[in-house]
Amino acid sequence: MTTAQVINPATEQVVARVELVGEAETDAAIERARRAGVAWREVAPGDRARLLRRFAEAVEADLEALAQLEVANSGHTIGNARWEAGNVRDVLHYSAGMPERLLGNQIPVAGGVDVTFHEPLGVVGVIVPWNFPMPIAAWGFGPALAAGNTVVLKPAELTPLTAIRLGELALEAGLPEHVFQVLPGKGSVVGQRFVTHPAVRKVVFTGSTEVGTQIMAGCARQVKRVTLELGGKSANIVFADADLARAAATAPYGVFDNAGQDCCARSRILVQRSVFDKFLELLEPAVRGVKVGDPAHEDTEMGPLISAAHRERVAAFIEPSTKVAFTGERPDGPGFWYPPTVVLPDAPTDRVLTEEVFGPVVAVLPFEDEADAVRIANDTEYGLSGSIWTSDVGRALRVSRAVEAGNLSVNSHSSVRYWTPFGGFKQSGLGRELGPDAARAFTETKNVFIATQ
Ligand code: NAP
Ligand code: MG
Repeated sequence: MTTAQVINPATEQVVARVELVGEAETDAAIERARRAGVAWREVAPGDRARLLRRFAEAVEADLEALAQLEVANSGHTIGNARWEAGNVRDVLHYSAGMPERLLGNQIPVAGGVDVTFHEPLGVVGVIVPWNFPMPIAAWGFGPALAAGNTVVLKPAELTPLTAIRLGELALEAGLPEHVFQVLPGKGSVVGQRFVTHPAVRKVVFTGSTEVGTQIMAGCARQVKRVTLELGGKSANIVFADADLARAAATAPYGVFDNAGQDCCARSRILVQRSVFDKFLELLEPAVRGVKVGDPAHEDTEMGPLISAAHRERVAAFIEPSTKVAFTGERPDGPGFWYPPTVVLPDAPTDRVLTEEVFGPVVAVLPFEDEADAVRIANDTEYGLSGSIWTSDVGRALRVSRAVEAGNLSVNSHSSVRYWTPFGGFKQSGLGRELGPDAARAFTETKNVFIATQ
């Protein structure tokens, strides 16, 4: 077995060594999951619900330890990490409501009774990126388990620690062995095997568009089900009639949260030209005020980037010709730090406007009127989220309907609420996670006709 070092991105110190699973072990785990699924799908809905609640309670009991582990592994601020562990608990509680509510239809037909069932798929493979190791994992495994599937989960090589701990907590909570297995390893080995192994019936992937398209193509060979969450280039649209002070004060948190390593980051701020200068004046102190530093510190608002390689990738977006309006702070010393950075792009083709930076870099640009704002917002292959700031409710609704994105917020920057569906238009992804239909995405609909004559 090969081992990988896990690095704390705020200190560059090794925090753990993790054994990486190879192809043969992945195959063995998938086979165990397939066998465990035979009994798991027969567990009575109420009992499956109870086990998921116990899993949620085990996460709650371990919440502070999970959060501290995420701070050490991923450099997330302790405030964010507590929210993330709490989100796993909440998604599990929400999922616990699903087995008993996985309702089919009774459809009026001639000559008999017609009913539909939502059957589990079998083994589900969940591939998780490094930016939100806990929540993104739970959005897959919670509803998948609730629907009667077994789950194999591959965390990102950079951030496996909390996923490994969640696997232990599932067992401690009483989930049967092999119903939920965590397999740390390489994407090209473990993740790829989820795609090619015929017993894996669905792959849930969150990560880059590049790998996502390969996964979709690979799954096509077996007509394998797939859900993709592939990042974004979301617009934060600020109209002249908005509460400008609030829009400017919150804009940094809409993009710099998690150091910008967020698929929902509002990395393009579109401001109506008549208030453009005023907005920038208000934005500058807000950006300079973002507290960047030791993520373990209670009032830190932004930590480091995940790795040295990723910091290089982010830094490459700022070319010598790039107009940087202003930057925020960054600590000295070890750690993969990058300051909050506000740029004024020259042309619509600038990379900083067309590509996902996945770091604390935001582009601010002017628009003329509502139609122009919608045109610019939609001038991207992505379509995940976005914000609209205005005091005109009619405009808020018109623009919400016109922007091609899966998750919009008006006078707010929230994207992910576990009660509501989450996912992207266009190349931001395929399918939806969370929300009232979350378990359905892990089932096949079966229609049964029973003759009465
Ligand atoms: P990535 O390569 O897409 O990795 C995401 C996950 O997929 C990781 O678990 C990775 O495993 C796995 N993976 C990689 N290659 C695979 C393959 N051939 N088959 C199956 N699984 C595979 O993302 P990245 O390289 O970490 O980040 C690159 C860029 O992607 C970022 O800068 C950002 O723009 C975007 N991104 C978006 C999101 C999002 O939330 N939508 C998340 C992360 C990254 P390993 O652990 O071995 O890499
Ligand atoms: Mg990669």
